[in-house]
Amino acid sequence: MKMDYSQIYLFYLLGLSIVLIIIMLLRNIKDKDEQIKRLRASISRLNNSLDQMDEQAKLIVRTDLELNKIQEELDKKISGLYTLQKLSRSFASTLDKKAIFNQIKPEHIEELGMQRALGFLWQEDKKRFLQTLAIGYNQEELNNIVSEITSNQNIYLKLIKRGKTISLRSADPKLISTQEIRRIFKVRAFCISPILPKEGNHGFLFVGTTSEEGPITEGDEELITILAHTIGQALENADLFEATWRAQQELERRVEQRTRELTRAVEELKRVSKRKSDFVSAVSHELRTPLTSIKGYASILLSKSLGEIPLPIQERLKKINRHSDELVHMINDLLDISRLESGRTTLKRQPHNLKELVDSIIDLLSMQIKNKSLTLSVDIPPDIKVLVDRSQVERVFVNLIGNAIKFTPEKGTICLRAKLINDSVQVDVIDTGIGIPKEARETIFEEFYRVDNPINEKVKGTGLGLSLVKNIIEVHRGRIWVESQLGVGSTFSFLLPTASHQE
Ligand code: ADP
Repeated sequence: MKMDYSQIYLFYLLGLSIVLIIIMLLRNIKDKDEQIKRLRASISRLNNSLDQMDEQAKLIVRTDLELNKIQEELDKKISGLYTLQKLSRSFASTLDKKAIFNQIKPEHIEELGMQRALGFLWQEDKKRFLQTLAIGYNQEELNNIVSEITSNQNIYLKLIKRGKTISLRSADPKLISTQEIRRIFKVRAFCISPILPKEGNHGFLFVGTTSEEGPITEGDEELITILAHTIGQALENADLFEATWRAQQELERRVEQRTRELTRAVEELKRVSKRKSDFVSAVSHELRTPLTSIKGYASILLSKSLGEIPLPIQERLKKINRHSDELVHMINDLLDISRLESGRTTLKRQPHNLKELVDSIIDLLSMQIKNKSLTLSVDIPPDIKVLVDRSQVERVFVNLIGNAIKFTPEKGTICLRAKLINDSVQVDVIDTGIGIPKEARETIFEEFYRVDNPINEKVKGTGLGLSLVKNIIEVHRGRIWVESQLGVGSTFSFLLPTASHQE
């Protein structure tokens, strides 16, 4: 068969179209292939991301769980600390050792997440443990525990000695196994913490839980350790308080006893002093009458009204007269002292200008001052008024200035000084005399006491002057004292009430 050109051409065209279609199809297939490849890559990337996201989700869940646990722990710890704070406050207000453990109540132990608690203190004198706290046990359980502890007390003493809290986490099986503790104390988990006051009783605090939830954590251990420590401190405070209280009681007892003794002594002293005053005053009165007669007879004889008397007898009569005068003077002083001491002297207190009063005494003694060529200086403000019995206070100045003159060697100095101190005036009588030995500075104010010194050997004296002075000042509610240095001088100082001071 013969094909014409048009057929050939058509055939050719058909062939070309088929080729073109095939080429296009191939191209399309290639594009799809690439698209599939890209899609596959995307899917794999997506898968990776999904895996990662899954990991992250797991991590987040884990972290969340852990955070929850930490939060729970923290909550437990905060509530535990709060309980401890409450307890330590009530311990602080308790100074009775027995009452300290009574402050711990079941709700406190509950707040610490436990149900059972026990306290034991070691009694050194009885060599055994004393049970001081029991929460969550019936009597029978308690008896069993106490007898277990009593028969194994060495183990518990060793636990205390170690000074560390033990729990399920930290028990030492060599000493006592956790199973054993759980059996004895009938708990699932526990903490035993030593109570260690610096002095006094040592003991331990046991806290345990019967519940199955969660073991004892580090936080629980810390809380129980703090509680035991706080109990230890409270016990120590109670011990200290007891010791102080005992010491105070003892002191009070001694003070009371001493006061009683002193009161008795004062009473006795008053009685003796009154007897002495009565005696002195009786003897003085008795002496005065014969003395007056002696003096009278001597005067009559000396007046020659009974006839001439030979000169040597006259001399002796004069001596009798002089000695009688001295004796009368002494008896008067003694009588005055006894009156002042027994409060029989009535003071005529009036305001007097101190400077004028002193000047009048100086006038009286000026000859003696001149005879010994003494320098006298007076430093008394002109406006000071004293509320005193003038005649009595004059005797104070006469005696003190008289002594200053007597015990100051020639050409020495005497100074009189006064200054106001609150409602009183302090007067100082200062001399540059022989001074007074330290041991005599108190005794010179006693009756008849005279220091052994060359002046006293030569010059007569009664040893009554300063006693009289002291009594006069004291009835004016004043005080007298002396400062002195041997060979340098003495300062007699005394206080008198000023006129502004009304009683
Ligand atoms: P009297 O002067 O009569 O001895 P007093 O009672 O006045 O008695 O004094 C007692 C003693 O105190 C004196 O004997 C003397 O030893 C001592 N005394 C008193 N005043 C002074 C003084 N200013 N300086 C040194 N000694 C003194």
